[in-house]
Amino acid sequence: MIDIPFNKAFVSGDEMEYIADAIQRGQISGNGYYTKKCQEFFNKRYGFKKCLLTNSCTDALEMCALLLNIQEGDEVIMPSYTFVSTANAFKLRGARIIFADSSDDHPNIDPESIRRLITEQTKAIVVVHYGGTACDMEAIMDIAKLNNIMVIEDAAQSIDNHFKNRPLGSIGHLATFSFHATKNINSGEGGLLVINDDRFIDQSEIIWEKGTNRSAFFRGEVEKYEWIALGSSYLPSELTAAFLFGQLKHLDKVQAKRKKIWERYYKGLQDMENEGICVLPKLPEYSGNNAHNFYLLFEDIDKRNDFMAYLKKHKIHSVFHYLALHSSQYFKHKYNGKPLINCDKFTNGLLRLPLYYDLKEVEVSYILDCIKNYKF
Ligand SMILES: *Cc1c(COP(=O)(O)O)cnc(C)c1O
Repeated sequence: MIDIPFNKAFVSGDEMEYIADAIQRGQISGNGYYTKKCQEFFNKRYGFKKCLLTNSCTDALEMCALLLNIQEGDEVIMPSYTFVSTANAFKLRGARIIFADSSDDHPNIDPESIRRLITEQTKAIVVVHYGGTACDMEAIMDIAKLNNIMVIEDAAQSIDNHFKNRPLGSIGHLATFSFHATKNINSGEGGLLVINDDRFIDQSEIIWEKGTNRSAFFRGEVEKYEWIALGSSYLPSELTAAFLFGQLKHLDKVQAKRKKIWERYYKGLQDMENEGICVLPKLPEYSGNNAHNFYLLFEDIDKRNDFMAYLKKHKIHSVFHYLALHSSQYFKHKYNGKPLINCDKFTNGLLRLPLYYDLKEVEVSYILDCIKNYKF
């Protein structure tokens, strides 16, 4: 009996071997052998200046807010169409969250919308590469430079993708990745902070190690370590790092498989778009594709939900998101900006199809056949 879940976390089969080795090595707390191996992997493959493994992308975003010394009343611009962590990390430091709209044809933040929201108080812009697809980083970095504002890439979904020829995560002053079980490569929970601006390198280690200079102490640079700044426990255990390392050498294989599924959906569902039933994802010419997700965009919430119920009846589990943050229960009374029309359109109309490494070819065929038989 066919029953297709929305996601199955990738498991390479190598994880146990590396975890056993981490235990053998005798250091299972953080910042050991496997933490360094993972960090080296990312530095080497993507040319990052420095990166630090974290417990989550949420952690890495919180570190960004501390690094930028965000204070009460500072304004941080970000899309409303994103995961809650993008905003929470800065709200925790007392920032005023300024929500920008998505583009008309893509959930990514619209650079024009950013331009209109900049004030004297704007400290940072957080961009989210939705579904792994690159934001218009040239336009965004230009706006930031002109106004002396920091840019953070929330690259949670964008492992192994690029803007033109530049790896995502290497363009903003800071960037964050996620290795949550729903992402292309995972360690159950996990994340990465990337530091591209030299000015933040020393401070990032201090924040990572609970506000102490412990990293410098272990390198023999200071005689004792002590509390020197605000920080927290953002570094994962070696067991998490070993698990992640057990996945990294399979990255190319995972990406190839996901792209194949993505292409099958895209080719197989052209008729849906031609017949005006829904719209397929748009890839801007400056973005690569890391096949993090595949979505259909319906005209309104009823059409989306009817289609979702139809798939469910055929044991295909699809998922919608994001409930716009500016109209969330927590934020709607604080929001005093303009209506965000494009953001609302994606909140109401977007539906994601199953896309994961273990999804079988026959299952994709089954999904495509089911969709073709749908009567509007
Ligand atoms: C998954 C995700 C996060 C959160 O990642 P965690 O590792 O679960 O903290 C943040 N932002 C975006 C855009 C995400 O997709």
